Amino acid sequence: MSNLTAKIAENIALVHERIKAAVMRSGRQGEEIKLVAVTKYVGAEEIRLLIQAGCLDLGESRPQQLWQKAEELSDLPIRWHLVGHLQRNKVNRTLPFVSMIHSVDSLRLIKAIDEAAAKVSRRMMILLEVNTSGEPAKNGFQPDEVDLLLSELATFQHVEIRGLMCMASLEGGLDVARRDFAALRNLRDRLKVNCPPEIHLDELSMGMSGDYEVAIEEGATIVRVGTALFEGAVG
Ligand SMILES: *Cc1c(COP(=O)(O)O)cnc(C)c1O
Repeated sequence: MSNLTAKIAENIALVHERIKAAVMRSGRQGEEIKLVAVTKYVGAEEIRLLIQAGCLDLGESRPQQLWQKAEELSDLPIRWHLVGHLQRNKVNRTLPFVSMIHSVDSLRLIKAIDEAAAKVSRRMMILLEVNTSGEPAKNGFQPDEVDLLLSELATFQHVEIRGLMCMASLEGGLDVARRDFAALRNLRDRLKVNCPPEIHLDELSMGMSGDYEVAIEEGATIVRVGTALFEGAVG
């Protein structure tokens, strides 16, 4: 086994262990947390090692890189997640490759995804990105605008809304990240009260290498981890 293979396998094992510990700490025994391995820093060779180690859910933040890697690795049973901003003019090209889009941040984008999915007779799984940190540079719906949108979103036949996603504040450390994650969970809990039956808000995609354990403690069901998987292996 090469050093690279061993290091990546070791990193994955460690992340899984920490996920498990966070699940236990938060009294969520028995719940499965989905690990999306974010591959934006690495190439096909490292990605193949992830797959060998059992990581089949992979994330990319740039559509073009996702297309390129998905084509290069089309022999593998990867489930691709788009976790970064998607422009409407890239929807058609992106749709065939992805199993879930985490970063849906406007009604116009949802309409574009619905139309594109209809053309290929699919229902696309999406998450609504919410700007819980309030940072102006961040994408996402404002927390108080989602409620009014839900009944309109329920009318789309070719998107399947599965939950919410957020990015923690860049500044402020773990306490601020925890506040942002708790805000997403609280928003989800409030929205569930009047949620149309077509819409499911079970998934909370939150937490990255620096804060995924805190995110799990605050209710994350999906964590998006890049750097921690490749530490000591690349770069
Ligand atoms: C890069 C990225 C991640 C992973 O970040 P790491 O800190 O490398 O774990 C998660 N989510 C999004 C949206 C990203 O762009």
